[in-house]
Amino acid sequence: MTIAVLAVQGAFIEHEKKLEHLGADCIELRRAEDLNQHYDGIVLPGGESTVQGKLMKELGMFDIIKSQIKNSMPVLATCAGMILLADKLEAESKVHLQTIPMTVKRNAYGRQLGSFHTNATIKGIGEVPMTFIRAPYVSQVSDEVEILSVVEERIVAVRYQKQIALAFHPELDNDLRIHEMFLSLCK
Ligand code: GLN
Repeated sequence: MTIAVLAVQGAFIEHEKKLEHLGADCIELRRAEDLNQHYDGIVLPGGESTVQGKLMKELGMFDIIKSQIKNSMPVLATCAGMILLADKLEAESKVHLQTIPMTVKRNAYGRQLGSFHTNATIKGIGEVPMTFIRAPYVSQVSDEVEILSVVEERIVAVRYQKQIALAFHPELDNDLRIHEMFLSLCK
């Protein structure tokens, strides 16, 4: 199994380590030509969504990645990645790939709570460690979006078709089950 990890900015190496540990091969998406290779799923890592969105456009990757996802390419999107997938962003004019019918609020936890760690349940897996870093949350979902986890009354994980979007960073914690769940979607 080969997973393509968007590698223009942010925490992509940590995802590659988890996926390789689980036996997947990883390739990095850095420029348009990288999209010509075969892969079974895409990871959109954490980082800065505005920068990632802009670079994907400038590097000629945006439209291709968007159409791959629309054509059911499995995706694991974390934090900034979740922001990239949202079809609406609260109080922001700039939206990105728009492949999940949900509204996301960026930097949603305020300054003091910008970063925190907790344990909470994900549907289908059980309790997992969750690290939030200047995290977004999902403020609205349409009916077809499955809510996978709620922390303090805020939606922090969703699934829509073959897309999994998380407000936190599973690549930074010592637990492989979310990456395992993603790889099982890629089969
Ligand atoms: N705050 C970042 C953004 O808006 C996301 C933070 C993260 O990915 N850890 O893109």
